[in-house]
Formats: sequence, C-alpha cells, structure tokens
Amino acid sequence: MNWLDTAEQKKFRIKVKDFLDNYIPNYYKNITPNRLAEGHTGGWQYDYKVGSNEAKEAALDWVTNLAKHKWVAPHWPIEYGGAGLSPMEQFILRSEFAWNNVPPVAGPGVNMLGPTIVLHGTEEQKKELLPDILSGEITWAQGYSEPGAGSDLASLTTRAIKDGDDYVVNGQKIWTSSAHKADWIFILVRTDNDAPKHRGISFIYTNIKQEGIEVRPIISGGWEHATNETFYQDVRVPIKQRIGDENRGWYVAMTLLDHERSNVSGMIEKKKTLDSLIKFLKIKNCRYVKSLSFSSYSRQVVDRYIECEVGFNFSLRIISMQDSGLIPNQEASTAKLYNSELTQKIDNTGMKVFGLYSNLWDPNDIRSPMHASFTQKYVHHISATIAGGTSEIQRNIIATRGLGLPRG
Ligand SMILES: Cc1cc2nc3c(=O)[nH]c(=O)nc-3n(C[C@H](O)[C@H](O)[C@H](O)COP(=O)(O)OP(=O)(O)OC[C@H]3O[C@@H](n4cnc5c(N)ncnc54)[C@H](O)[C@@H]3O)c2cc1C
Repeated sequence: MNWLDTAEQKKFRIKVKDFLDNYIPNYYKNITPNRLAEGHTGGWQYDYKVGSNEAKEAALDWVTNLAKHKWVAPHWPIEYGGAGLSPMEQFILRSEFAWNNVPPVAGPGVNMLGPTIVLHGTEEQKKELLPDILSGEITWAQGYSEPGAGSDLASLTTRAIKDGDDYVVNGQKIWTSSAHKADWIFILVRTDNDAPKHRGISFIYTNIKQEGIEVRPIISGGWEHATNETFYQDVRVPIKQRIGDENRGWYVAMTLLDHERSNVSGMIEKKKTLDSLIKFLKIKNCRYVKSLSFSSYSRQVVDRYIECEVGFNFSLRIISMQDSGLIPNQEASTAKLYNSELTQKIDNTGMKVFGLYSNLWDPNDIRSPMHASFTQKYVHHISATIAGGTSEIQRNIIATRGLGLPRG
C-alpha cells in the first residue's frame, strides 16, 4: 500500500481537479444539507430521469462533459467508449468526485451490464446497447434476487421456457432497486430444471414496460420507494436477448471487468457526514453541544472519526491489490462488512448526540437538527448490512477464505 500518489497519479489527480473546477454544474455545487435530506442527490440517474427541471439540466450538462473525457464508464475498455483507466486512476477519480459532491453516472447499466456485454455480448448486442448505457438514455434495473433466493441466489426459480424464437418467462423477483424508474431490466432465469443449480441459469434482458411485467413498490420503514417486486407472467423475451450461452448465465453474471471495488466514495461520504456533525456542534451556542459534555458521547464522535480513517485504509488496501493485478476476495468482504456497519454506527452516534430531537423527521422543521439528516439516514441505512450481501455472508467468507476455518 502506498499512501502517496506517484508522479503519474499526481498528474492524473490534477487533471481531475481541473475538470471539476471547470465543469461541476451549479446545482451540485450548491447542494445544501436540506436538499440532501430531501433526497435530491439520489444519484445521477434520479436527477436525470425524475428530478426537478434544474436537476435534469444539471445531470445532462454533467454527463455531456463527462462523456468528452470518456469518464462515464471509466473502467470500460477504450474501444467500447470507456476510458480504460487503471483501478488506481478510477479510485482517484471517484475520490475527487465524492469530495466535490458530484455523482458518478453509475447504476447497474454502467457498473454491471456494460462490462458483461463487453465480455459476453454479441457484436449486435454491443452496438445496440452500449451507446445508450453511456449516454444515460436507457436506465437499467438488476433482477437477480427472488423471495426464496437472496444469499443463496443460485436457488432462483423464475422459469424461461423456449417457444419458437422467444423465451416465455414466469416468476417473481424482489428488492429490484429503481425498477419503477428503469426502462429495461436484466434478469437471471432458470432454463434447465434438471441441471445442478448453478448450471441451469441463463442471463436475459427485456424492456421492463412490456406486457406481462408488473412492478409493485416496496415502501421502506423510512417511507422511501427505492425497491420493488417485479412479477413476470408469460413474458415473451426474444432468444437473441440472452447474453452468453444458454445455462451459462451464472458465470456470465459473475463477470466483472477490472473496475475498482474499494467503495471509496462511500467512505468519503462517511467522513463528510462526520465533518459536518463536528462543524455543526462547534457553532456558537449550539444547544446540542451539551450532550458532548457527557464524555461517552464525545468519545463516540472521536471513535467514529478514527474508524473512518481505518475504513479508508481498507478501501486503499483493496485498490492497491487491484492495481497490482491481485483479486481482492475476503479483503472486499472485510471492507463491505466494516463500511456498512460503520455507516450505521455514525448514524447512531448522531442520534445520541441530538437526544430527543432525533425523533423529528421533517427536514423543514426548524427544530430538526441538521435538517433531520441523521434521523433519516438512521432509518434508511438499516438495509446497509443486507443489500449487496449480508453481514453474515461476509463473515462466512472472512472465516472460510480469510481465516481458513472449516465450513459450519
Ligand atoms: C435496499 C436493497 C436493495 C437491493 N437491491 C437489489 C437489486 O437491485 N437487485 C437484486 O437482485 N437484489 C437486490 N437486493 C437484494 C439483496 O441482494 C438481498 O436482500 C441479499 O442478498 C440478502 O438476501 P435475502 O434478502 O433473500 O436474505 P436471505 O438470504 O434470506 O437471508 C436472511 C437472513 O439469513 C442470513 N443467512 C442467509 N444465508 C446464510 C448463511 N449461509 N450463513 C449465515 N447466515 C445466513 C442472512 O445473513 C440474513 O440475516 C437489495 C436488497 C436491499 C435491502
């Protein structure tokens, strides 16, 4: 691990900073805690597709300028419209974006489907799908999980049966993030019931608005509509909309190009959250500062600050491995586990510092400390230790692959 930029990396960081100095739309520059609490930076896709006129304009402006540098998909190969950046360059790019409050043009299309098509798609699929992913014109949802198949994803039962040139799909997916805003969806379906479970799955994609697909909202405990159930009843999907060979979908889905896996943006967000809490508590006559006179609370703030530094180093460890051509395995699980649990600990600390005022939910209530951002995050982040692989699964990986313990 190297804590300092090499000469080349320094040059690249300056290039990114120059770009940000010139091209950050005012909308992103002027983000206030109030707007944050109201969810106005629910990611670039949110701004572009369903944001206010101001948000849409900023998002379009941002993607246009990013596209000029090929930084919409920094990890894709140059010949497919990406920038072909090394993992460390991607780490620098994402760090600078996060410090400056600008969202990457991410989402399952750029992060997952694009790299999958590059490696397994036909020439026709590449020509048809990649440009629309890069421009953000078509947004995608990821339909993997099912009510009976989450951690044990290979148990999925949504069926696709061949009929002429089509598959006919029947089944259900769950927790499908942003399906209500997406145009298309890629799903894993069972195409062979008799094969061992990993070997009877295929990877297909379809327009989410087509007949036979129903998207039902799941409203979270924080009244947020982020995920959905999706139902498939006799949905006809042309066979040519399968990526990779039939029954090899599991291996297609596990594809990842060399994209950075450090989640450094998440760690920087945590540092910023904590910085803003400390800044707020330093405001003269801040009424909540009294709670810091309880030494256990002030110690908690300090502990969280130190934990953020540790978390940053977990991220740096992963990226250093990737940059040296190594594949992080249990190291990625350690970082996911630590980062998601730290997210919840930071929210918890804020709630304690604000005491009974933490019960206020409305960001516009003048009595809500920091526009109720800690209260809202406390509820929203309950899913942090579930989404993307639960903490128990990460612990299993660390135990077996990292510590060499026997399977229980
Ligand atoms: C906010 C959010 C967004 C999501 N977005 C998407 C999406 O866009 N697309 C998508 O396909 N999926 C998505 N998911 C689904 C996510 O991947 C699953 O929720 C996750 O993999 C866990 O699966 P599950 O919910 O079925 O829980 P289960 O796998 O049923 O687990 C239930 C409990 O049992 C524990 N458990 C399970 N197996 C083991 C084991 N072997 N050892 C020890 N403990 C175990 C788990 O840790 C958990 O506590 C999302 C989930 C959330 C919460």
